[in-house]
This record gives sequence, C-alpha cells and structure tokens, in this order.
Amino acid sequence: MATHHHGHHHEDMLSVEEARDKILSQFGVLNAQNFLITEALGLVTSDQVRSEINIPPLDNSAMDGYAVMSRDVSTATYEHPVMLEILETIPAGSLPTKPLKTGAASRIMTGAPVPEHCDAVIPFEDTTEKDFSKSGRLTEIGIRTSVSPGTNVRVKGKDIKEADSVLEEGHVITAATIGVLASMGMSHVRAIRKPVVSILSTGNELLSPGEKPAEGKIFDSNSSSIMASVIQLGAIPRYIGIARDEMGSVREKLREAMESDLVISSAGVSKGDYDMVKDVMSEHGDLQFWSVRMRPAKPLAFGTLNRGSKTSVPLIGLPGNPVSSLVAFEQFCRPAILKMMGKTNLHRPTIQAVLKDSIVNYDSRRVYARVIVEQTEDGYTAKTTGHQDSNILTSMVHANGLAICPEEEESKDPGDIVTVIMLDD
Ligand code: AMP
Ligand code: MG
Repeated sequence: MATHHHGHHHEDMLSVEEARDKILSQFGVLNAQNFLITEALGLVTSDQVRSEINIPPLDNSAMDGYAVMSRDVSTATYEHPVMLEILETIPAGSLPTKPLKTGAASRIMTGAPVPEHCDAVIPFEDTTEKDFSKSGRLTEIGIRTSVSPGTNVRVKGKDIKEADSVLEEGHVITAATIGVLASMGMSHVRAIRKPVVSILSTGNELLSPGEKPAEGKIFDSNSSSIMASVIQLGAIPRYIGIARDEMGSVREKLREAMESDLVISSAGVSKGDYDMVKDVMSEHGDLQFWSVRMRPAKPLAFGTLNRGSKTSVPLIGLPGNPVSSLVAFEQFCRPAILKMMGKTNLHRPTIQAVLKDSIVNYDSRRVYARVIVEQTEDGYTAKTTGHQDSNILTSMVHANGLAICPEEEESKDPGDIVTVIMLDD
C-alpha cells in the first residue's frame, strides 16, 4: 500500500531526544543464547551464574616450602632451627598421601593441596633447605622461624564458594569475567545474543569500493562506515548492498534486509529525493519520515518493515551525507543496538571542554561539531576539525568528540564551555 500521508511530517521537527525516545520504545532486549566464553566478551549475561565448585577447591599452599603444624615450630629461630622429619614432596596437581604428625613436615609446591593437620607453610628461604641442597636426598629439614596458624595456606572456597552467585543477570562480560567463568570450569555462558543488523545504501550514483571510478558516480562509503560501527558495538553486520533509485531495486533489497533485528539504510530520506524510495519503504511497513532538529543529519526515517503477516523489523533510515549518517548512527542506531544487547548504559560519556574556535548555529538546530579534544593542565580543550559541511567525511576521521551548540544558542565562541560527546576512550 503506497502512502502519501507522510508529507506533513516534514513540517514538525522533532528534538533529538524525542526522536531517540520514539526509536528506543520500539526495541526490546533480545533472547539469550549459549556462547563459548571466549566469544562472549562485551555481551550481557541473561541469567545469574552460580558456581558448582569451590575456588580454590582445597586448602593449598601459597608458597614453595614446607607444610608444618605451627605449634611444632613455635620456638624456631634463625640460629636455633627446629628439625623436622620430611614425609614426602607434594607437587601442584597431586594430592598429599600422608597426614602430618608431630615432628614431621612435607615439602610442598605453590598451589599443591596441604596435607591433613597442616596449618602453615614455611617458605624455603626460612628453612635450612639451601644448606643441604647439594647433599642429595633430604630426610630432615630445619625450620628457622615460628609462624601463626594459617600462614601461607590458601583456604578452600576463599574466592568463590560452591553454590554462591558469582555473576548477576545483566552483567557486562569483561576479560576478568571470562577468567572467572573459566576458573569455575565453565566453557559456555548464557548471554543476550548479538543483534544482526542489515545495512544497505540507496542511490543511482553509488559504486562499491573496488569498482572502477566512473564519471558522475561516487563510492558508497556509508555501508562500510556503518558496518564498522556495528562491529564496534559487538553486533553482527549483514551487508545487503546498494539499491538503485527504482521501485524494483529498493523492494528487492528491503526484502533481503528483513531477516535481521534492525535494518539500517542510508540516503533517500531527504526532501529532494525520489519519493519513490520513501514510498517503497512505506509500502513494506509503517514508516515515518522525520526532520530532527539537529545539524548535521536533519532527515531521518524510522519505522517497521512487515516481515510476513506477524512479525516486523525496525528500520532506521539514515541521511545520505557521510558525516550525517555517522552522526545520526551515534544518536539513534547505537543506543538501539545497545538496548537490544541488554545494556543499560546507552550513551557515550560527555565532558565539558573549553572551545578554542567557533561553532555557528544558523537555524536553531542542535549542532554537533566534530572536534579534537585534548587534555591540558587546565582541563579539556576542544578544537573543531575544520570544514563542518556534512559531506566532508575527513572531518570525522580526525575528531574524537562531538561538541554541542544547543538549539537556542546562535554560536559557541572561543573560550566558551561546551559539552562534548566523546567518541573514543
Ligand atoms: P540523498 O539523501 O540520497 O539525497 O543523499 C545525500 C547526499 O549523500 C548525496 O550527495 C549523495 O550522493 C550522498 N550519499 C548518499 N549515499 C551515500 C553513500 N552510501 N556513501 C556516500 N555518499 C552518499
Ligand atoms: Mg539519493
């Protein structure tokens, strides 16, 4: 069903927040899957994780030395060592075979389980071991220090107790988390799955990188930069390709794109475009075309594409200009993807910086200026990366932040404090 009712939407501009809220309200957290722990970095746990084992699993030695009963060595000093009979050597990975008894010790290595009745381990340096090391097999050892009970013994379950909850649902998996999961013997973890994001470009002028340059044509940069942005978030990009500005081509590409959790298109959403692209998009679902009160990236499409009779997939139609599409991705696609992944912190960190040059606001939109932020002795400074036109993609390459000039201000001038959305860490 072709729709022509969307024309009037152009007149009402949405604020960035209004547009983002409308978009985010259409997304929920995806279902969970089992992941190899080594493939779960950055994902969000979907269940509480309990340990089936104690860590450490047994009382064990924190040092290479001698397992003793502390009361046996209470009188030991450097000059007057207490001599103990050596029962055995316990390497890491083996179990002790003999319980300690009065007047006896066992040689023990770091990580080896301590023998029964042992309550302390004396490191080699505090024994006479080195005096004998060349004389062959030891039968006795001199202990040169007294110890309090518990010294150098790592207690079973001290780190993690069996049946303890170790991770809560909603935990963002880090390298340390993966280490803990591995230490509990888990090869897999249940986490929210990675969203599959279909990416397509529209436009008769577009060539794919690698093709021969042709007069009147430009290379499609949006597909590549959006795919990279999707990968950076930990989601899975699906490259659909370039739709021509024809009904058939757009229809075909949209159908291909539907098998995903989100479709991101670029171009074909501004006023001057072939209305056809918008009509085909609308025909496949419920799509609205918005003007958002921001610069760059005023035009934006959002809605759902029908996939069969029951299910639908959200579509975010980014503007065509390369800078606009990346800035709009930041504002609208990034939080939507993070929300699907179960993350609760959907926004980039912001800082306050002293502006070094000017940001001009011609028409009461919120300006996102590409800036280089530097940390100086007096705090952060921000300097624009030159040309701020939305077709100057190199301005984005050098930027590490987006400085904001609010809707209601005509400019930000040198020395003014600006809020900057940080794009790197
Ligand atoms: P449109 O919204 O289709 O009018 O596109 C706006 C501007 O962005 C035009 O100059 C297009 O040539 C350009 N553009 C559209 N799509 C892409 C793309 N995928 N890569 C680079 N530039 C694009
Ligand atoms: Mg176009």
